[in-house]
Amino acid sequence: MQIKLYNSLTNKVEDFKPIKEGEISMYVCGPTVYNDIHIGNARPVVFFDMVHRFFKFLGYDVKYVSNFTDIDDKIIKKAKELNITEEEVAETYIDAYLKVCSGFNCLPYFANPRVTKTIPQITEYIKKLVDLGYAYQQGDNVYFRVRKVPKYGILSNQQLDNLEAGSRITVGLEKEDPSDFVLWKLTSDEGKKWDSPFGMGRPGWHTECCVMINDIFKGQIDIHGGGNDLKFPHHENEIAQEMCMHDSTIANYWLHNARIDLAGEKMSKSLGNVVWAKDLLEKYPYQAVRLMILNNHYRQSIAYKDELIERSCTEWDKISRAYLSLYRELELCDILEAKPEEKYLSEFITNMADDFNTPNAFTVMYGLLKDINTSMRANPKNYEVLSSLKASLDIMLDILGLIPDVEPLTAEGKELLIAWKNARSEKNFALADELRAKITELGIKF
Ligand SMILES: [Zn+2]
Repeated sequence: MQIKLYNSLTNKVEDFKPIKEGEISMYVCGPTVYNDIHIGNARPVVFFDMVHRFFKFLGYDVKYVSNFTDIDDKIIKKAKELNITEEEVAETYIDAYLKVCSGFNCLPYFANPRVTKTIPQITEYIKKLVDLGYAYQQGDNVYFRVRKVPKYGILSNQQLDNLEAGSRITVGLEKEDPSDFVLWKLTSDEGKKWDSPFGMGRPGWHTECCVMINDIFKGQIDIHGGGNDLKFPHHENEIAQEMCMHDSTIANYWLHNARIDLAGEKMSKSLGNVVWAKDLLEKYPYQAVRLMILNNHYRQSIAYKDELIERSCTEWDKISRAYLSLYRELELCDILEAKPEEKYLSEFITNMADDFNTPNAFTVMYGLLKDINTSMRANPKNYEVLSSLKASLDIMLDILGLIPDVEPLTAEGKELLIAWKNARSEKNFALADELRAKITELGIKF
């Protein structure tokens, strides 16, 4: 199976080839933990979890790392406002973030490195950039010398001169060049700070990911991901530093997901129109929210509105009902395990391997569901066919991370369901109703 990925670095769909056979190294920039995440921030969480699940299904050992930026001016500001420490702010929102991840049924990460635990490596990295002449200390900061990188702008396809035309107004006096960015901020404020060869201060945002990737993966990785809005300046600046340091573009494949906006307007905290991920997870089944995100191709933006999530709820309801009745049918005769049927599954996988064409993959899954419903109606005793259709559906749902909430039956529940089915086929409706009431009373979904 040849997987194809759209590589943001080359703007081309390319054949995917892992660096190490059977292994995937993947890094996705995580949150700055000073607030909850909104639905737009949740998109990469869900999408890259699906990427993880897909490679895992294909038999890869996936090492998926995502960082926490746990020190930043916004965290310091929040700590001041709430009169608590920066650590407390960070802990609160790291917990909240991980709760959202597990709320979305995401697989665990391989690692979640934090800036505050990586400071010595970060200062050492910056020192090396200074020693190599790629960075300089001037005034209150250490800056990266962007002009020294011949290929600066390769990811976001921007010419340095165009970039500078826009940023000229905001140029500080101390920078050599308007595009230079901060690696280390010297400060004497009350916020958390660390000693370094350059003086007391805090790291800028763009160095941590380079350092963490080197720390954990020891070199070039397969996939670096994140939201589209991270392309510039964050990812561009990550690449710039690594080009100087290791003549590397960090990852062989750069994957960027598109945004989720409110229909017709930009979602932003300052506009006060934010749809929080935790609120959606509280209000709707997580599967419906995941489905809403994954039903769109990851490179297409989503215009969020309430009807969209409500439609996804209806979709999920249909899927889970069909699944449940199939599951119960097979459970009663103990044939829940079977070999997956080939046709639907291979079509599904082919679409997933085509740069994660989830809209087409969903179409295949809906075709399978239709087939299941038809087969169930035609002959619910055709266990061989039904069990292999179910096995295929299980794999698809697992890759999408949409796990139906089905509780296996207890012995008593099983007996009752069998008795109810028998009563119905014998047209003993009075008994069937009685049994049905009992089953419902026990809280058994069927
Ligand atoms: Zn990053």
